Amino acid sequence: TPVIGVLALQGDVREHVAALAAAGADARPVRRTRELDAVDGLVIPGGESTTISKLVDIFELREPIDKRIAGGMPVYGSCAGMIMLATEVLDGRPDQRGFDGIAMTVRRNAFGRQVDSFEAPVSITGVEGEPFHAVFIRAPWVERVGDGVEVLGQVGDGPAAGRIVAVRQGNLLATSFHPELTGDRRLHAYFVDLVRSAT
Ligand code: GLN
Repeated sequence: TPVIGVLALQGDVREHVAALAAAGADARPVRRTRELDAVDGLVIPGGESTTISKLVDIFELREPIDKRIAGGMPVYGSCAGMIMLATEVLDGRPDQRGFDGIAMTVRRNAFGRQVDSFEAPVSITGVEGEPFHAVFIRAPWVERVGDGVEVLGQVGDGPAAGRIVAVRQGNLLATSFHPELTGDRRLHAYFVDLVRSAT
């Protein structure tokens, strides 16, 4: 059974732990380096990326996580977690910093004030069945992807149609939306499989 940690500094940690467990992982919160050492993969939850960035430094997790990423550890970031995995952030706070993650530019709170929260269908390459009922909460979108980044999903309907909201680069996965807030476990199962094949 793959051991998958959820970065437990801020955000919807419990929901990810429950979703990972339902998808067949041994899921646990990670707050310390020794807890990080014990996991095969890591989820960075939704929440507030500026706060997570600060707490990553306070808990001295930045270098250890960058090292694990460089070593090939799979990481899945949702929403704020996507922002933490982006090499470039637009509309970020000047002091926020992400990990050495996915070669992409994301825009924070990209969908605008009128549509702070919304739901839209999103199909994900590599995940079979109907489109996800994707939940967006003050979500980022991906404006640009670099070499080696695969676009897995775009908004299917409505004013934001076509916006990139799911990407993968090697063992790093990111979505703008929150599959942990719905009963649909296919994305967590996809990540559990990714961790299984990486270890
Ligand atoms: N707007 C938040 C940020 O900038 C992300 C929101 C979320 O994770 N639901 O970090």
